[in-house]
Amino acid sequence: MVRRRLRKAQTGSQMRRFSALWCFQTRTSSAQSVGTGSTNCEDEFVNNHNRAGNAWCTELSRSVSVPPREWQMERAFQTALALLRPEVVFILGDVFDEGKWSSPKNWDDDVCRFQKMFRHSSDTELVVLVGNHDIGFHYEMDWFKLQRFEKAFNTTSTRMVTKKGVNFLLVNSVALHGDGCPICQSVEKQLYTLSRNLNCSLENSQSSIINEFCRDAWTYPPTPPIILQHYPLYRESDAGCTGRDAAPPEERHLLFREKYDVLSQEASHRLLQWFKPRLVLSGHTHSGCQVLHDNQYTEISVPSFNWRNRNNPSFILGSFSPSGYGLSKCFLPEESTVIALYCSTVASLLLLPLVHCLWIRGLLRCLDFCPISKHKSL
Ligand SMILES: [Zn+2]
Repeated sequence: MVRRRLRKAQTGSQMRRFSALWCFQTRTSSAQSVGTGSTNCEDEFVNNHNRAGNAWCTELSRSVSVPPREWQMERAFQTALALLRPEVVFILGDVFDEGKWSSPKNWDDDVCRFQKMFRHSSDTELVVLVGNHDIGFHYEMDWFKLQRFEKAFNTTSTRMVTKKGVNFLLVNSVALHGDGCPICQSVEKQLYTLSRNLNCSLENSQSSIINEFCRDAWTYPPTPPIILQHYPLYRESDAGCTGRDAAPPEERHLLFREKYDVLSQEASHRLLQWFKPRLVLSGHTHSGCQVLHDNQYTEISVPSFNWRNRNNPSFILGSFSPSGYGLSKCFLPEESTVIALYCSTVASLLLLPLVHCLWIRGLLRCLDFCPISKHKSL
């Protein structure tokens, strides 16, 4: 893994610090056919995505019991845990590929596979956010799918997680459609309450007089939150993105659709105004992106963790205190490099006996014609 420093800001050495690791879009696929190793590649095949480019993978996956890209993800995650030992891991949604369509049995199978792949010790907390592939886009989402997800991961889709004085605001961004749907109303109400509590905590820390509005507010550490959500905040396109794994030039100027590729302008503005976060981390788009909103709010879109979606997946390693943070981007091996290494190794193993035979034959021929070997001693 290669680590690149993204940003280092106000790292208060006197503060308690802890490390966290982000990845997203793990997309454990639905088990469509037990025993033949249904994989992401097969899902791609079924879903008509990149058919030609992944045909080799589909064929390979049919012949092995462990889907290769799930095995890659598992090894990458377990290696990252062993090397970096984060205290908390956040997965920014799209845990499953077809969670929105899964039958109860397939859902249970997928959850079991996810728990096996992303197993961790009790020293590390795993926090999972909800994405559109888990419960569907807004028009597909319902209480059954949302509660099934929350039950599987023992979570609430919108809540505050506080670690050593650092506030992480987890947002169900699928429900920020703003159309007054029951789930949207519930999430907006929770966000409003969290915003009030947090702003009251900040206000109370700066003044000895308690505002009547804040009298029964829940108290949080008085520090702006770090927002974690699946959809990125509104941006017109990836044109303003920076980063080594930002979208390629031919995709950078494609316009995003509000409420589909990114949050709506209204929902984005409201989140920033209500919480004034010191950092926003999001997923959904497959490319990395670092942008600045309103010239003061940094957002980093974490690219996919799955080789299915890009050749160079990565994750973010963060170190936090209540007043600062440092981030590093950790790149996994490129799939093309891994495949090239496997192919060259197999080719070498196949060629080795042939070279050996040719070398022996050449040596024998040489001895046969060599004057020394033909010379008879007197
Ligand atoms: Zn998504």
